[in-house]
Amino acid sequence: MDSLQIKNKVISEIEKIRTNLIQLAEKIHFNPEVSGQEINASRWISEYLERNGFDVQLRIGGLNTAFIACSGENPGKPFIAFMAEYDALPEIGHGCGHSLIAPAAAGAAIALRNTLPADFVNICVIGTPEEETTGGKLKLLEKGVFDNIDVAIMFHPHTITTGLRPCIGRTSIVFEFYGKPAHASTYPDKGINALDAVILTFNNINALRQQLREDVRVHGIITDGGKAANIIPDYARAEFFVRAREKSYMEEVVQKVINCAKSASLATAAQLKISSLMPTYLPDIPIDSLIDCFESNLRVLGYSTQKVSAPYRLGSSDYGNVSQKVPSLMGFISIAPEGTPTHSIQFRDAAISEKGLKVMIDAAKAMAMTAMDVVLVPGMLEQIKNEFVRKVSGSV
Ligand SMILES: [Zn+2]
Ligand SMILES: [Zn+2]
Repeated sequence: MDSLQIKNKVISEIEKIRTNLIQLAEKIHFNPEVSGQEINASRWISEYLERNGFDVQLRIGGLNTAFIACSGENPGKPFIAFMAEYDALPEIGHGCGHSLIAPAAAGAAIALRNTLPADFVNICVIGTPEEETTGGKLKLLEKGVFDNIDVAIMFHPHTITTGLRPCIGRTSIVFEFYGKPAHASTYPDKGINALDAVILTFNNINALRQQLREDVRVHGIITDGGKAANIIPDYARAEFFVRAREKSYMEEVVQKVINCAKSASLATAAQLKISSLMPTYLPDIPIDSLIDCFESNLRVLGYSTQKVSAPYRLGSSDYGNVSQKVPSLMGFISIAPEGTPTHSIQFRDAAISEKGLKVMIDAAKAMAMTAMDVVLVPGMLEQIKNEFVRKVSGSV
């Protein structure tokens, strides 16, 4: 079979399971489960994979709603992972469209399994929960779940169609200031004002902004600012996120932001305690050979693709950490007009629209076709790995 014939075969395998994939997407969409509670979604997807010949392990990496479903025991042969997210948002439901991600991953894996000879490749679907909060992929990486994977692929619905929408890294910082209470009128000279330290931290950061690169985001809130206007606040607390496109620059900005808080501590005499809210999401490493391949497969399916460059409406994802560990691809396909905000009711409704469901099927096709190229095109996997090594070592 030539490459066009074999791609037509994988497309027809997905067409055979089209109705099942749509039913799965509808079930997940109408039964939204927030991060860490995706009991039904993880069960529905893993059971479906099991019925289609995959060996399933549940609750991997210490996560109740994570799973891995594998097909093939061929050491030395390419190992392709499709990543499935399925968590919803509080109140909005599937406003990020993860109800489309999981069935697309399952569809791509099943079609690939049914198309390629059994001894050609190893395929798995990794169920990665908690993307919207603490990042299930981080825990799975820590436990070695991605250790033997050659290429990890996923799809995310969006308002643009592209093989690359850069992920911005994200570090959380919590500043707590401890002062001394006193009557704000009678004994102002006896107090140490912790709220002033927080306000100075904000002002210092606002002065810092002018000297930062344009892809950087620093944003925060005050969670504690005192109890009463006539008591000098002895405790104040603020939470910040620092985001940047490059890992090393993000670390540099985090230090600058910490200095903003330290100088506020010095100015007010309030003691400073620094901690973090959640693990750091790293920026992604784009692999051009995978991106080009995914985009050309999308064009075969009738889509036009666009190039996005930073600092286009950047977000952060635990996908970034995966891409720092193994060569990875996160492809985006538009399900709603450009400008529609994600994490919104409009985007949630787009995820269950006719167009959203068609995109999910095409995403499964494009991912399976890309995996075919990785496995079958001579030298392609080697090229991907070389590009990855070059970029991780910073030699590009
Ligand atoms: Zn989201
Ligand atoms: Zn998302």
